[in-house]
Amino acid sequence: MNLLLDTHTHTVASGHAYSTIMENAKEASKKGLKLICMTDHGPKMPGGPHIFHFGNLKVMPKEIYGVEILKGVEANIVDRDGNLDIPEEILKKLDVVIASLHDVCFPYRDVDSNTEAIINAMKNPYVDIIGHPGNPIFDIDVDRVLEAAREYDTCIEINNSSFVSSRVGSYDNCLLIAKKASEKNVKICVGSDAHISFDVGRFDKALEVIEKANLDENLILNTNVDKFKEYLKNKGKL
Ligand SMILES: [Zn+2]
Ligand SMILES: [Zn+2]
Repeated sequence: MNLLLDTHTHTVASGHAYSTIMENAKEASKKGLKLICMTDHGPKMPGGPHIFHFGNLKVMPKEIYGVEILKGVEANIVDRDGNLDIPEEILKKLDVVIASLHDVCFPYRDVDSNTEAIINAMKNPYVDIIGHPGNPIFDIDVDRVLEAAREYDTCIEINNSSFVSSRVGSYDNCLLIAKKASEKNVKICVGSDAHISFDVGRFDKALEVIEKANLDENLILNTNVDKFKEYLKNKGKL
């Protein structure tokens, strides 16, 4: 399976990532990717960008080194109601919005709170992708999350960095999510979650999970740029 785009990458703007958009685009070009989503952390992440970062993304070119750049955010889900740390007037200007639970930005740890928070975030029409839902510190009701993903047409992420550098213990959760997503016809995207340019387009472990889960290629949005952009257009983006 050939994945041509990376839906989740960070730049120096995130505060704990180490490459510029130029370096990320160069690496993406070297690896033959056609598109990357620039999805720096929302402002509630300690060291994260000021909200002006997202308001000013209009200055970013559409393409760098032949790689299309989608302007986005990895917003923090901050409460059980699924509220994000980015106001609506900014969300509506972005090409792509990932919503994720992060330990420092979300106070709850019980299955019910985690599940409710994610489902409520999916109800936000500007949310396109749920980031790393296999994180073992946030146990979720996988069936409920995937049924909501189908109902609200939200894409579920398989996050390569969960298997490599962060969120230890994600593997089995992600495999279960991938298997059930396949049964329930839920759209999947693969993100490297690169915090340094060398990891842009790194999908090795995610591909292993996809293969083990026998996930249908049609459900994976990274195999074709038009397929991914069509999905976003259906969500009212681009
Ligand atoms: Zn994250
Ligand atoms: Zn991330």
